[in-house]
Amino acid sequence: MGKTVLYNLVNMTIEERIEQLRNQLHQYNHAYYNEDRSEISDFEFDQLLKELQALEKAHPEYQDPSSPTQRVGGSVTKNFPTLVHAERMYSLDNTYSPEELENWIKRIEKIHGASIQDFTCELKFDGASINMTYVNGRLQKAVTRGDGTQGDEVTANVKTIKNVPLKLQGDYPPQFDIRGEIILPLEGFKQLNEKRLAAGEEAYRNPRNTASGSLKLQDSSETAQRPLQCFFYALAGDLPYTTHWESLTKARSWGFTIPESMQQVSSFEQMLAYIKHWGEQREALPFEIDGIVIKVNDINIQSQLGFTAKSPRWAISYKFKAEQVSTRLNDVSYQVGRTGAITPVANLEPVLLSGTIVKRASLHNADQIEKLNLRIGDHVYVEKGGEIIPKIMGFDPENRGELGASIRYITHCPDCAAPLERIPGEAQHYCVNDTQCPPQLIGKIQHFVSRKAMDIDGIGGETIALLFQQGLIQNIADLYRTEKEQLLPLERMAEKSVNNLLAGVEASKKQPFAKVLFGLGIRHVGETVAKRLAQHFGSMMALSQATQEELLEVEDIGEKIVASLHAYFASSAHQKMIQDLTNFGLSMEAQVQEQASNKLTGKTIVVSGVFEKLSRNELKKTIEDNGGKVGSSISSKTTFVVAGASMGPAKKEKADRLNIPLISEDDFLKIL
Ligand code: AMP
Ligand code: ZN
Repeated sequence: MGKTVLYNLVNMTIEERIEQLRNQLHQYNHAYYNEDRSEISDFEFDQLLKELQALEKAHPEYQDPSSPTQRVGGSVTKNFPTLVHAERMYSLDNTYSPEELENWIKRIEKIHGASIQDFTCELKFDGASINMTYVNGRLQKAVTRGDGTQGDEVTANVKTIKNVPLKLQGDYPPQFDIRGEIILPLEGFKQLNEKRLAAGEEAYRNPRNTASGSLKLQDSSETAQRPLQCFFYALAGDLPYTTHWESLTKARSWGFTIPESMQQVSSFEQMLAYIKHWGEQREALPFEIDGIVIKVNDINIQSQLGFTAKSPRWAISYKFKAEQVSTRLNDVSYQVGRTGAITPVANLEPVLLSGTIVKRASLHNADQIEKLNLRIGDHVYVEKGGEIIPKIMGFDPENRGELGASIRYITHCPDCAAPLERIPGEAQHYCVNDTQCPPQLIGKIQHFVSRKAMDIDGIGGETIALLFQQGLIQNIADLYRTEKEQLLPLERMAEKSVNNLLAGVEASKKQPFAKVLFGLGIRHVGETVAKRLAQHFGSMMALSQATQEELLEVEDIGEKIVASLHAYFASSAHQKMIQDLTNFGLSMEAQVQEQASNKLTGKTIVVSGVFEKLSRNELKKTIEDNGGKVGSSISSKTTFVVAGASMGPAKKEKADRLNIPLISEDDFLKIL
């Protein structure tokens, strides 16, 4: 009909007035939620909104799904349709300690092949995650995370959230997805519960569940009553930005609430400072957070790192508190390690904790057991911290085992019945029967063949247990006595695997003395100590005859190690075994080439960065081969730093401060 309806006395059509009102309201809203500016009073805002509502009602032909009136709600959804996410919504891996966080950085730097120094730190909002799609600057749909692949479409409810922009400003891409967390602030949660209690209804448990519940209300005007907010934390899709920071800064300019708490950091120290700051401040925040999210900032590096089955490799969350569950303590068993050390293990009623089923927890040692004061049948609190094996934190006083069921630490070895011994000053108990106790004997042989020791291919831990049970081997020397005819009749021992095993055993005779020494599994003699002893004494003979004073002269060797070495060599069974190994042709002397020169003797050298000619490990070996010591971090004791590409600025600064020279890889090789 083309009729022009005049609106008021102003020369404006109804359609034009509707458009004008919508634009004004969008603008006021944007100023209020994104620029922290009130351009008009709440009363005036409500007047304009009411006018718009009335006009839209009278003229449904001008309906617009992005209209500010959508925030009031009113539509009713019976079933929320399930929609598939264009890009999967992943979980995040958790860390609970600075060490774990540092390990994450090391892991991804290894994949990346260089150090990474550009990260963002963000708060981890505890609410409901949401994916929103914007087309031509308008909110098209909002879908919950669901199982990560698909979720529920809750657009009508999300439109009622005041700080979710329905219409964008500025230079936004024609289509993109954005992700955020919808939260219910603590004050709003409290008020909601007060109302519910007053109405005789049950209180809601926590803001997080209430936020996700609010998204699934059938009547959107009810959702509109709840003071929900959305914090946005990521864009998804193929977008032209080079960093995460840049993309979120852009999103902020289009009208999204990007938390000001987000920060860019360039070192591990800065990350820790951020974590500490928010760990202290979080009680004062008006909403709940359950940790910090750290992300690699560079989008190219993000794509290189990619995803695991569950989560991105380029991001991690740092949780303030480990998750805790309660479950029944069924009994305690005691494991005997290769050195005879006893580890008490709690056997639990299986329970789900941080995504995995937990059946056992470490009890560490007798002191720990005494401290926990547990009884069999107690319901205990289990927590997963940094360790792979969860820890028992305490018991539920309301749900205890019987009085007579207190746990008593064992006095005798569970495997060989020999009495246990506790060396003064050590926390662990040991089974003293180290020449006959089966788990010790098996464990020692398993250690001997392991990769860091003799690295014998073709023989695994299970095979060793099998050979031991069959009576074929009692100690490591017996490995060199086994014959093909003895092995072939055994289960799972085909000709080929027998040949592999024997070839591996034969080849191990060429391993250097330091590895043989480490392989013996002498208590407290780890890889580094073994190397140092091999280098210093040059032979098993010299080492076995060294006095306490001579041993103490060696760097890093203290009284604990000296006592352990003396006890080891004092045993005639050990002496006989070493004699046997010597007769079989194992190296009992340090090769001359194990020490290429002594040019670096007395020098402590730190290796940092990425190198061209040698790998880091080769470089470290070269230092040791030439008599030097590899330092793990820069200190006043450092003689110099071999600095490769992308050495961290913090390290550089430290070296400068302590006046420690940096030497290039080439110059280092020239010195040699
Ligand atoms: P989780 O559910 O513990 O695996 O953690 C992943 C979830 O953390 C995501 O799905 C988001 O809902 C939520 N989250 C909260 N804040 C952030 C943030 N700043 N960056 C990424 N994810 C966040
Ligand atoms: Zn024993």
